[in-house]
Amino acid sequence: MKGQNTTIIQNHKLMSYGIYVNEEDDISTELLEEFDIPTEPIIYRGTGDEPDVARHFVEQIVNIGKKVTKLLKTNKPIIMTAEEVQRYVTCQHCNLCNGGFSAANSKIADHNNLSGKYQQKLSNTCNLKCQTLKLVPCFFYNLSNYESYFIVTELGWGKLEEDTLTEKEDFYSTLTKKNIEKNEYVHARKVWGNFGYRTLGEYSDLYVFENFRDICMMSYNLVQAYYYTAPGFNYDVTLKYTRIGLELLSDYDMLLMFERGIHGDFVQPSMRYVKANNITVEDYDKMKEDS
Ligand SMILES: [Zn+2]
Repeated sequence: MKGQNTTIIQNHKLMSYGIYVNEEDDISTELLEEFDIPTEPIIYRGTGDEPDVARHFVEQIVNIGKKVTKLLKTNKPIIMTAEEVQRYVTCQHCNLCNGGFSAANSKIADHNNLSGKYQQKLSNTCNLKCQTLKLVPCFFYNLSNYESYFIVTELGWGKLEEDTLTEKEDFYSTLTKKNIEKNEYVHARKVWGNFGYRTLGEYSDLYVFENFRDICMMSYNLVQAYYYTAPGFNYDVTLKYTRIGLELLSDYDMLLMFERGIHGDFVQPSMRYVKANNITVEDYDKMKEDS
């Protein structure tokens, strides 16, 4: 809100954006090209004819989203190497729940519908649970800060004009069911080169996230990218590894007790006492390290 003592001195607009579609490693470039999905990073800069970069960005991601929706309907038959068949036949435990197999809960060979590649052995119940994910996660650098204003405003307009309801439902994905094996170096060169990173700091934000995703997948066999927060992810890891089923709160008083116990607080481990030692403080001790 502009009051009478406020003077507008600047009006900020987006100048450019960059998008990179990060596909699974064993999805072929041919398949992406077949659905006209960009395989290289896109850098866009506003021009005189097209100055509205935020709008262009939203149109671009909605457009890519529609193409991904079509791509996800691909269903290639399973391809297994002799070694994979051998591993599948001899294995005794489901890769997700670690449970054994039985006549009632049989062994299933789970494959990537987009590549046909065999991924893991699953119990029938896990295989069924695995198939219901219907979203394509998008990651924004620094969205919680300054840039979000432009994008969120633009997404708001987009929604009014676009019938996105059926599209959302169609976002069907089996992308989560594999371990990631990356050729890190080639990938890193590609990202660095194409995004034109100026500093290692800028690059490392993206790299750290990619690396974190890989480690989560290897350690827990859960896809971190599908969680909104790290605590949410941790919560699932805890449930998975302790194999504890939490009791449903059906008693009203018990429910109230839990609700009263929920607090929104700020928690941080802090040092209790900090004392600076440098030239500007009165009792500076030059024998000790500066701080
Ligand atoms: Zn299972």
